[in-house]
Amino acid sequence: MRSHAQAVVIGGGLIGCSILYHLTKLGWSDVVLLERSELTSGSTWHAAANIHGLHDSTNISLLQHYTMALYKELEVETGQGCGIFQPGSLYLAQTEAREHQLRLQEAKARRYKMNFYEIGRDEAERLHPLVDFDGIRCIMYEPEGGNVDPSGVTLAYPAGARQRGAEIHRFTPVTCTEAQPDGSWIVRTPKGDIRTRWVVNAAGLWGLEMAAMAGLELLLMPTEHQYFVTETIPEIAALDRRLPSVADRDGEYYLRQEGLGLLIGAYERDMRFWTEDGTPPGFGHELFPDDLERIEENMMRAIDRVPVVGAAGIKRVINGPMIWSLDSAVLFGPVPELANYFCCNGIIPGFSQSGGMVKLAAEWMIEGEPSLDMFGWDMARFGHWAGKAFTRARVHDQYSHRFKIHFPNEERAAGRPVRTRPAYEKQKAMAPSSTSISAGSIRSGSPPPASRRKRRPASPARTGGHRSAARRACCARMPASSTSPTSPNMR
Ligand SMILES: Cc1cc2nc3c(=O)[nH]c(=O)nc-3n(C[C@H](O)[C@H](O)[C@H](O)COP(=O)(O)OP(=O)(O)OC[C@H]3O[C@@H](n4cnc5c(N)ncnc54)[C@H](O)[C@@H]3O)c2cc1C
Repeated sequence: MRSHAQAVVIGGGLIGCSILYHLTKLGWSDVVLLERSELTSGSTWHAAANIHGLHDSTNISLLQHYTMALYKELEVETGQGCGIFQPGSLYLAQTEAREHQLRLQEAKARRYKMNFYEIGRDEAERLHPLVDFDGIRCIMYEPEGGNVDPSGVTLAYPAGARQRGAEIHRFTPVTCTEAQPDGSWIVRTPKGDIRTRWVVNAAGLWGLEMAAMAGLELLLMPTEHQYFVTETIPEIAALDRRLPSVADRDGEYYLRQEGLGLLIGAYERDMRFWTEDGTPPGFGHELFPDDLERIEENMMRAIDRVPVVGAAGIKRVINGPMIWSLDSAVLFGPVPELANYFCCNGIIPGFSQSGGMVKLAAEWMIEGEPSLDMFGWDMARFGHWAGKAFTRARVHDQYSHRFKIHFPNEERAAGRPVRTRPAYEKQKAMAPSSTSISAGSIRSGSPPPASRRKRRPASPARTGGHRSAARRACCARMPASSTSPTSPNMR
């Protein structure tokens, strides 16, 4: 194992492997990835691995399109299959608001020359004869939508990185990260230490524990998430092509072909946190007991829409852990209070974003700034007020309303008030429909840093400190809504 490196990436899940690949692609070859177990441990191995391009945020759409194209390039470059299926995705609108949202997406897709357009019911029935389109107000089609093989992709990234000189060490847990006075780090493992310029926290489910080694507290909490796969469905077996996936956000489920059956997953209202005190260190390639009752309502809506699901037997249920930030967007970027410590934690649609997001990470470390403005992901977006209780309330809200449409200037009530002014009770009595401003409680987009440094106070002399100060000044001028521009509707 090398004793020195430009960057040490901690975690060999989807994101860590992609970071390693992109660092080498942008020119750094003396980089190392450390994985405590096998690659793909954590959330990655059991993901449904759906991919799609459109997102409410234009920049995220651009990144997601980059990611979808990259998977094909990776296969050619490395020879490692990524199990790519792109039979397209159908987006359904049952309500006026959803129709409006999809039409906005279509207009944006036209503007940015992305492939996402409306189709009529006849065309939709030809594409997916098993869907009942009654009650659907409009149907959009994204021809590149589909899914990948989670392990294939996660092995292709390091294969590409290795070709350019990167080292990967499996079964090498990081036990300590020590900041050095010159801004470098010592990363300690049972197999030896590495001195490095950059530490990258890509420890996924263990992101919180990894951050704690550097004295940081990340606002993350793991939940359970479930999908199931049906037995073979004769109507699918009789087809000579793959069916498009179905994004029925009003039904609060996702559905796609898997083998000769269907895969249906749900973000249920009756959600479950897994652990509230972090991920156990010994957790491995494990799943939780099936709990289909919890997603029964979502399943029933899927059966109404795709009736063959009701007659199909269930072949397998996956109930696995997934780690969330309090606005369900990644905690991304250099940590303002720590020199040369980069976080990429709490990613929900990892398979749609792994390429583009991580390309920005590599640009930020190597070139000093990312090529796109990703303020909605910047970990400096939350302040010290956002503690564990607030994180819990927000993650609960985010998970159980994953597909809800979020409107500009929306005030989300979960977890509030966190902090109140002395006049709060009086103002509340005067204005029962309070907003975050009139109620005097904290504004959801209030600035400084996302992380809470336990040991050392923030130093404005450090690069991150300047960035954080700039962000604070910028946030102070922004309305609360504009500080969280990434609505999760299309993730
Ligand atoms: C049931 C389910 C379905 C999903 N479906 C989809 C989907 O359809 N589409 C989609 O885009 N996303 C989906 N996801 C989300 C997706 O799985 C995640 O976005 C992605 O896997 C996150 O990858 P990661 O690398 O950040 O984390 P992880 O996969 O958790 O990887 C972290 C890695 O870090 C390693 N590590 C931890 N601590 C240390 C240490 N001390 N030293 C060294 N290594 C360490 C771990 O062993 C692990 O390998 C789904 C998730 C679940 C649970």
